[in-house]
Amino acid sequence: MSRREEILAEMGLAPIWRLRTSKKEIAEEEKKELKPSPDGWIELKQAVPACTACALHKTRTQTVFGVGDENADWLLVGEAPGAEEDRLGDPFVGQAGKLLDNMLAAIGLNRGKNVYIANVLKCRPPGNRNPEPDEVAKCTPHLRRQIELIQPKLILAMGRFAAQTLLATDASIASLRGRVHAYAGLPLVVTYHPAALLRNPAWKRPTWEDVKLARRILDSSPRS
Ligand code: URA
Repeated sequence: MSRREEILAEMGLAPIWRLRTSKKEIAEEEKKELKPSPDGWIELKQAVPACTACALHKTRTQTVFGVGDENADWLLVGEAPGAEEDRLGDPFVGQAGKLLDNMLAAIGLNRGKNVYIANVLKCRPPGNRNPEPDEVAKCTPHLRRQIELIQPKLILAMGRFAAQTLLATDASIASLRGRVHAYAGLPLVVTYHPAALLRNPAWKRPTWEDVKLARRILDSSPRS
């Protein structure tokens, strides 16, 4: 122990006050602070299926956590599981999911590679009704935690509930789409929900523009 360390120890300050000497050491410590711990995923994957924060736990078959690459650059956020998702436990496995997969393929992506897909709600609202505000409020911490753990480079908010929840606004999709927003410092692009495109094919063109905008943002990201 050096004389300095001895003195600090006598003062009861060692080893807490040890100076981080080299730049390399500082950079390594900062990296450690930024890197999500694997325990975070384990905890969240236990917390979501055990969640009873709102009444939807009484009617769900199972929770729908999310699927994809946990280190993805792209995070796609939808609304809530439907009947098929509730039955199978994965998001976007029904008709809307097929459309979503086609959209991803069109920009060279797929749900397992560099893409993570999650919903605002982890439980199915009965009869596929809209999420209630208290359900969104109770479930949003799970989504926020997923975002912290994934640290995506871009969020694509699909539909009103994803956009309004993440941007804390009640503005319409039409007024939010076509430009870049920010969620916790991350670029966020708003677009129509894939299920809405099935009902209204005229929205496919603007959605494609939004997806291309997202692609351009990611391609010009300094971290990519
Ligand atoms: N619609 C959504 O918003 N999410 C799903 O997982 C399925 C349909």
